[in-house]
Amino acid sequence: MRLLKASIAAASMSACAHAQEAAPARMAPPDVRAITPALADYTDAVLFGDVWKRPGLSPRDRSIVTVSALIAGGHTAQMTGHFNRAIDNGVKPAELTGIITHLAFYAGWPRAMSAVSVAKDVFEQRGIDTASLSGAVQTLAPLAGEDERAASVDSQLGASAPGLATYTNDVLFGDLWRRDDLLPRDRSLVTISALIAAGQGEQLPFHLNRGFDNGLTPEAVSEVVTHLAFYAGWPRAMSAVTVLKTVLDQRSSQVSAGAAPARAEPRLTVQRYVESSPAPSENFTGAMKVESRFQREAPARVGGGVVSFTPGARTNWHTHPLGQTLVVTEGCGWVQEEGGPVETIRPGDVVVIPPNARHWHGATAETPMMHVAIAERLDGVAVTWMEAVSDQQYSGGATACRS
Ligand code: MN
Repeated sequence: MRLLKASIAAASMSACAHAQEAAPARMAPPDVRAITPALADYTDAVLFGDVWKRPGLSPRDRSIVTVSALIAGGHTAQMTGHFNRAIDNGVKPAELTGIITHLAFYAGWPRAMSAVSVAKDVFEQRGIDTASLSGAVQTLAPLAGEDERAASVDSQLGASAPGLATYTNDVLFGDLWRRDDLLPRDRSLVTISALIAAGQGEQLPFHLNRGFDNGLTPEAVSEVVTHLAFYAGWPRAMSAVTVLKTVLDQRSSQVSAGAAPARAEPRLTVQRYVESSPAPSENFTGAMKVESRFQREAPARVGGGVVSFTPGARTNWHTHPLGQTLVVTEGCGWVQEEGGPVETIRPGDVVVIPPNARHWHGATAETPMMHVAIAERLDGVAVTWMEAVSDQQYSGGATACRS
C-alpha cells in the first residue's frame, strides 16, 4: 500500500513541473480532474495505474470483465472508451458482439440493444468491416454434465414455466453457450462478471462452478471480484466474495474427500466450519454474519445457513418463494410478517414463514440472536430482497425478552 500512496501523491504533484516521470498516465477526463480531483487521482494512480496492471488477470480479461459490467449495468456513457480499450487489449470485434449477444440473455434485451448502438459507432470510427461479424459460427460440443443440467431445469421449471424451461435448455444452453464466437471460458467470465455487477448472488454458485469447469482459475476469479469492486462498487464485490468462498470451500472439500465431481456413486462430504466476522450488508441493518452456508445441488433445492445478529440488527423486508423455516438457537429476537404483530422468538422456537409472505427477522434492540435459516429455491431463487425495516417498524409493539 505504500507504493499506492506514493503514486497517488505523485499524481497530485504532477500538475507541477517536476516529478512528471513518476506520475501515472492521465486517464481521468479533464472534468473529473476539475470537479473531483481526488477521484481523478484514484482513477489515474489506483484504477488504471495499479488495478488494471495486477497479475492474475490479463488486460484482455479485465476488458471483458469491465465491458460485461458496463453492459449489465446499462452504463452506456462509459462504453465507448471501454469498447475501444477492449479492442486495444485484444478482444476481437466478433468477440465483443458475442459478449453483447450473450448479455441479452443475462442482462436483458434492452441493455444489449443500447450496447449495440455504441459498438456500431466504435466499429465505424475504427474502420472495422462489419461484414466480418456475420461469418459462419461453429457449434461446440455440449459440455460434460449437460444432460444432468437439462434434466434439473426440466424438473425445476417444467411444471411452472415450461416455456422458460424450453428456452433455457434449447436456446440458452443448447445454442448460445455452444456458439464458438466466444469460448465457454470467456462466456463464463462474461456471465460471472454480469451477475456480480448486477448483485445477482443467487445464480452465482452455479456459474462459478461452471466457470471453474470451463477453465477459469480461482486466482482469476478472485481478480475479477477485486476488479469489479471498482466498476460495480464495494458492496457488490463483498457479497460476491462470500459466495466465491463458499463455492471454493465446497469444491475443495469434494477434492479432499476424494470424490470426483462426476462420480456416479454417492460420497459423503463434510463442509468444514469457517469462522466469519460480522459484516454490514445491503440487505440488512446492523452487523450480522452468516456461517455454515449450504446449498444442495439440483434436483435438491434446499439451502441455508446459521445467521447471527448483533443487538439492533435485522434483515430488510423480504420474501421467500417457497417460504422459510427458522430455528432459533441462541439469544432473543423479533420476527414480523407484514400486517401482523412483532413476535418475540427464543432458543428452541421454530418460525414457519409461508411462501411469498413479506417479513423480516433479527435480534431485539437489546440482545443478540442466532438462528438456523432454511429455504428451498424455486427456479433458482430462494429470497427476494426489499427495502430496509425502519426503526419505527422494528420496535413497533415488540415485547421485551424474558430470559
Ligand atoms: Mn426470511
